[in-house]
Amino acid sequence: MSIISGASTSTAADLRRTNLSRALRAVHGARGRLTRAELGRELGCTRATVGALVADLTAMGLLAETVAAATGRRGRPTTALLPSADGPVVVAVEIATDAVRVASVGLGGHLGDVERAALRSGAVPHVVGVARDVLDRRLAVVGPRCAGVGIAVHGVVDRTTSAVFAAPGLGWADVEVDVVGLLGLAGARWAHIDNVAHLSAVAETVRGRARGVGTVLFLHAAVGVGGSLADRGRPLRGRRGLAGEYGHLPLGEQGLPCRCGGRGCWETEVDQVALARAAGLSATPATAAAAAADVLARARSGEPAARRAVERIAAGLGRGIGALVTVHDPDLVVLAGHGADVLAAAPQVVHDAARAATVPAHRGGPPPLVPSALGVDGGLVGAAEVVFDHLFDTLFDAVPPRTAAPSAAQPAEGAR
Ligand SMILES: [Zn+2]
Repeated sequence: MSIISGASTSTAADLRRTNLSRALRAVHGARGRLTRAELGRELGCTRATVGALVADLTAMGLLAETVAAATGRRGRPTTALLPSADGPVVVAVEIATDAVRVASVGLGGHLGDVERAALRSGAVPHVVGVARDVLDRRLAVVGPRCAGVGIAVHGVVDRTTSAVFAAPGLGWADVEVDVVGLLGLAGARWAHIDNVAHLSAVAETVRGRARGVGTVLFLHAAVGVGGSLADRGRPLRGRRGLAGEYGHLPLGEQGLPCRCGGRGCWETEVDQVALARAAGLSATPATAAAAAADVLARARSGEPAARRAVERIAAGLGRGIGALVTVHDPDLVVLAGHGADVLAAAPQVVHDAARAATVPAHRGGPPPLVPSALGVDGGLVGAAEVVFDHLFDTLFDAVPPRTAAPSAAQPAEGAR
């Protein structure tokens, strides 16, 4: 008898925790447009259960309910469920090649107060020192509301140790930089670090072009090409976290030397350096962004040589995308950075080349190729969302089961 009773209590508690977690997730992802009725449909719960969940989350300081815009229908005014403005805050950090950026992200996922601190060099002590300064300042402001720290790094992160072991743009090679530890976060609060492309794929799934999409292939090009394949918001990181080094697939047709030491890598024929070279300009990794922007601007104004250069890069980009579509069969391909610029400049060339490079099964209906919705903010947004995901999984661990029936405790009046 006691066993049955214990199991029943445990199940009730588990159900309540699961529903609280799912409800808070829904409110977080809804951008302030969620009604009680919509929440009930999403969770498959009765009005009474929704009423109880709303009451619980409000009492925990996680939720606020406001009168929404009039629907024109008679009856009680519709209310919208909003994340509390005083709820937990995630601090997101991006360690890029030229700067460190930090932002505070509250429930609802809005990226607020982005601060940028320029890097004078890629030396590890300098980069870590700058990052620690901006992070510590932000943590002091956020105080006890901080629910964790998410870090996006423009480098390769070993998923087994969380150390950064390469960051070509910073000049880090064959290193093992414990960024989380050096930032003073080890053990202090929940922290997650990952490659910016993996986190951008998460961001596009939660807040960008891939909302509701099953499998998304995210590709970011600038100097080099990287990316991530995410399935239902989970990036495929591989054994050590190395997955997504798409720029080094041997898809280049000219056999050009690559920064990785290989030859014929895809990125040598499609990135910003390649676009500058195709237009007859010489560019270094440091000057490639400006040179590529110049070529794209001249192509837009109709200069034939620049136009030809852009189309050549677009064809190479499309060819590689076609190969990746054959391998991964994604629902959607999201292009960011220089990739999005080339897609905008020569969409038909990219699409035609992609279609031609896929296996016949894809040629009739290849997945859509779209530009990123989040642009340069993808890393920060994704870093924050991974921490929120962990928070929603664990926040209610200690919540006991309700002692009274939810419907008796919290009648769900006014739900529409
Ligand atoms: Zn390479």
